[in-house]
Amino acid sequence: MVKRIQKIPFEKLTPSGTSTLSPFNKPIATVKPGEEVEIETWDAFGGCIKTEQTRAQALEKGVKVPVNPVTGPIYVEGAEPGDSLTVEILGIELPSSGATTISPGFGSLEGWLNLMIPRTRISEIKAGKVLYRTDSGRIVEVTAEPFIGTIGNSPVYEAINTLTPGPHGGNMDCPDIRPGNTLILPVNQPGALFGLGDVHAVQGDGEVGGSAIEIPAVVKLRFGVKRHYPIAWPRVESPEEIMTVCSAKPLEDAARLAHRELVNWMVADYGWARDDAYMFQSIAAKSRIAQIVDPLYTVVAKMPKKYLKP
Ligand code: CA
Ligand code: CA
Repeated sequence: MVKRIQKIPFEKLTPSGTSTLSPFNKPIATVKPGEEVEIETWDAFGGCIKTEQTRAQALEKGVKVPVNPVTGPIYVEGAEPGDSLTVEILGIELPSSGATTISPGFGSLEGWLNLMIPRTRISEIKAGKVLYRTDSGRIVEVTAEPFIGTIGNSPVYEAINTLTPGPHGGNMDCPDIRPGNTLILPVNQPGALFGLGDVHAVQGDGEVGGSAIEIPAVVKLRFGVKRHYPIAWPRVESPEEIMTVCSAKPLEDAARLAHRELVNWMVADYGWARDDAYMFQSIAAKSRIAQIVDPLYTVVAKMPKKYLKP
């Protein structure tokens, strides 16, 4: 039977606990490398935005709206600082609807749309499609491509809030962290102290308005430990590509970091000379803006595997 880790009860969601990835939180579960695990997650609003009410309206009614809660920390047996944690994403179960919001003070265009009123849109999810209903009532169908928005390990020293991405992972909103791919994260603490949440049914590059199709989910994962394999930033492997996921502000720094890490990976694991790896990125690398809305922005740099080995 697949081990199931339940989401943390609503009344136990706290800003300093479940809204952080942190060495100070006590593990809620222990898993073994190689074991398949199902993990329940809250959506980014802790389940508080079920109807087309805004976050502000929920708060006015006295509803506590948790900030991007994660399920964790999960202790992975045998993971030690200097190792890397591999997280194979085996599947994501979709619910029947998801929420999208815009709000003043958040989102990539907020300086321009500074008179923007907060809005919430609930979209039905049916047979693998997201049905987005416009103000005029038109239904726009988008194929669901679910992925995990916030996923990471404890940082080295401090607690980092779950809105901020970084070398430890966190709120990367990278659509490539999806079923069929494997995420590789640096391990900074014994047991890794892994957490995840903020699953999206689908998201456009940049997550421009600040939220995607935000959903609660059940995520099926398999963990592994790469011994003595220190990495500086999260990485993703798909059957076709290797990818580096780096976050910084301004956006160009995130792009520079992601391409630098891709050079380092090609050199360390695929035997490329550094200058070749750098030059070849001008020829064959791809990149995407994962998100341009969180406290640091995230860029993904990619290289097709077919070029990497002779
Ligand atoms: Ca997010
Ligand atoms: Ca989100």
